[in-house]
Amino acid sequence: MAKLLEGKPLAEKIKEDIRGQVSSLKNKPVLASIMVGENAGAASYVKSQAKTAEGLGIEYRLQALPQDTSEAALLELIRKLNSDNSVNGIIIQMPLPASIDYKKISAFIDPDKDIEGMHPANIGKLLFGKAKLIPCTAASAMELINFSGIDLYGKEAVVVGHSEIVGKPLALLLLDKFATVTVCHIGTSKAGKLEEHVKNAEVLVVAVGRAGLIKGEWVKEGAVVIDVGINRVADKIVGDVEFEAAEKRAAYITPVPGGVGPLTVTMLMRNLVEAAKSQQL
Ligand code: NAD
Repeated sequence: MAKLLEGKPLAEKIKEDIRGQVSSLKNKPVLASIMVGENAGAASYVKSQAKTAEGLGIEYRLQALPQDTSEAALLELIRKLNSDNSVNGIIIQMPLPASIDYKKISAFIDPDKDIEGMHPANIGKLLFGKAKLIPCTAASAMELINFSGIDLYGKEAVVVGHSEIVGKPLALLLLDKFATVTVCHIGTSKAGKLEEHVKNAEVLVVAVGRAGLIKGEWVKEGAVVIDVGINRVADKIVGDVEFEAAEKRAAYITPVPGGVGPLTVTMLMRNLVEAAKSQQL
């Protein structure tokens, strides 16, 4: 039976380290958070970010803008935050109104304040293995893999899902540790090859958003399984991997909920403190 890779205890450990770093900074670090319009999901993320920030000695400055905010007005706000020396990091809450282009907005954030790690300059650094601001969900998955104690060197790692926020950055992080990385996606499934790749995985990370996509019997004996997926099925939250069958075969597996999810806000705060440290040099 697999050991559970739980996010909460790991988040607590990382938070202790963050608190230590915050206390050695000259100024209290400041995170500027921008929310446009009203959305229950975004409001709940904001609440959880504000609470986590407070517990770490980080100032959380929320800018809540009306739904009809124009792209130009949002760019102007970011320009101000970019040049405000008291602000160390900026996060844009999703979703944005359809009239606003997220890619344009996120590329306008000063890369040194881009604590979501999604600015092209930071993605470029990730490619060179030099990133300090790493996309939070990918960073969470890496933390959980490291927590399992597995040495990634030469291991078969399979990432299912190739989104810009999870699959692609994670593939780069795994490559950086000399894992042999296979990235699967919708095309892999359509070609009927998903099972064959998954069966090879000594480390399996799934970030798709389809309950039960990964059959328990596909999981290799002794694998480390990180399930990033979040799906609501009959009022329950489940991942993308058939958990009960998979946990009988894996050595380590993340529960859903309770695996990757609880770590992501902590990773955001870790990025903020990284940003503050390099800005206060
Ligand atoms: P996305 O929609 O941007 O990307 C989905 C990926 O899955 C794509 O690469 C697509 O090609 C692939 N895919 C779709 N159907 C497939 C199939 N049948 N077989 C193989 N691959 C298939 O999604 P995302 O934003 O990367 O999110 C993925 C999942 O992770 C979602 O469930 C999301 O809710 C969850 N998520 C969780 C956290 C967290 O904190 N735990 C954070 C971000 C995303």
